[in-house]
Amino acid sequence: MSVATLDDLLGEPSGVRGRRVFVRADLNVPLRDGRPSDDTRIRAALGTLRRLLAGGARVVLASHLGRPKGGAKPELSLRPVAARLAELLGRPVAFAPDCIGPAAEAAVAKLADGEVLLLENLRFHEEEEKNDPAFARQLAALADVYVNDAFGTAHRAHASTAGIVAFVRSAVAGDLLREELDHLRVVRGPERPLLCLLGGAKVSDKLAVLEALAPHTDVLAVGGAMAYTFLLAQGLPTGDSLVEPDRAPDARRVLAAARAAGRELLLPVDHVIAEKLEAGAATRVVKEVPPGWRGVDIGPETAARYAAAARQARTIFWNGPMGIFEIDAFAKGTEAVAQAVANSSARSVVGGGDSLAAVNKLGLGARIGHLSTGGGASLEYVQGLPLPGVVALERA
Ligand code: ADP
Ligand code: MG
Repeated sequence: MSVATLDDLLGEPSGVRGRRVFVRADLNVPLRDGRPSDDTRIRAALGTLRRLLAGGARVVLASHLGRPKGGAKPELSLRPVAARLAELLGRPVAFAPDCIGPAAEAAVAKLADGEVLLLENLRFHEEEEKNDPAFARQLAALADVYVNDAFGTAHRAHASTAGIVAFVRSAVAGDLLREELDHLRVVRGPERPLLCLLGGAKVSDKLAVLEALAPHTDVLAVGGAMAYTFLLAQGLPTGDSLVEPDRAPDARRVLAAARAAGRELLLPVDHVIAEKLEAGAATRVVKEVPPGWRGVDIGPETAARYAAAARQARTIFWNGPMGIFEIDAFAKGTEAVAQAVANSSARSVVGGGDSLAAVNKLGLGARIGHLSTGGGASLEYVQGLPLPGVVALERA
């Protein structure tokens, strides 16, 4: 099934001029001292917003921010995001102190053609995450048309990403959502060989991903903290590395699944180890992590193997840094892999907040095929799971 897009909406004879368009974006940015400390997600929303505003739409923009747990938390207000968005758009952005009810309705009523309004944090109402139909209907009452551009939240069935669709006249995918799906579809139905590089620290979250990917991936290369749970599962020493012993059986299942499907699963054959997790800590390169030491990065031989796999691949999906890249001395493995992905002629997709930070820190972002703005959503999608936000649009 396919979804209608912004092109379809803007191509309608009636267009969007004078129409109230509800745009669900993912403006969940980190805040520091009351300002967005990284505005990547705000920038990612600009394309859709500019097209709608140029078409004369009255844009009602909505997002969540952080985890307020169903109550208003001043420190999780979207107000600073409205300010940054206004700077980036080069035009005023109105702000409504609530996302539903009289305050929101009054702010929407004041919008003129080509103007934009940001609603307060959707998650200040617990009904948002519960996908409550009455709440979804209240959101829908603010608009004539619904545009979902929140790829980073598309794997959640929430009122603003799924429930709302039942109460609007038309629902389409924004440019960011469409672009993400176009790129990630390539990983779902890849030109082979497909290389998946999986690292990072969220071992328990990502083991399910590995299990789902293993049978379809020609080469699965594991790094980061994740690798140590695999080594542990095989009875190999891991020293004081970050491991999740209760996940060892899952790791064994992934290994078995890869073997049964005749796929290659690569694990580190050498490691950068440190006694302390701090800049300037002494490091060593070893084949086995001794007691008292932690694995903090893949070693040079492992990095060379993973880089060789990247050179041979036609499609690459990467999620999760290969080591604690935030500390320069532990970043060489991630850097080597990032260079190899950037130099590869394969179609490449990198997802995950820390993975993007690593790639951008190395100045390689522009040389990667696609940088996915949604870590969790991209992982669910490439596994072949349906994204509720997308399913809702397909049904619309
Ligand atoms: P992403 O945000 O890309 O999905 P994760 O959040 O899963 O990635 O993991 C990123 C974190 O993993 C980074 O903060 C990094 O320092 C950490 N990490 C990577 N390798 C190791 C390791 N060997 N030991 C501990 N932490 C690690
Ligand atoms: Mg992360």
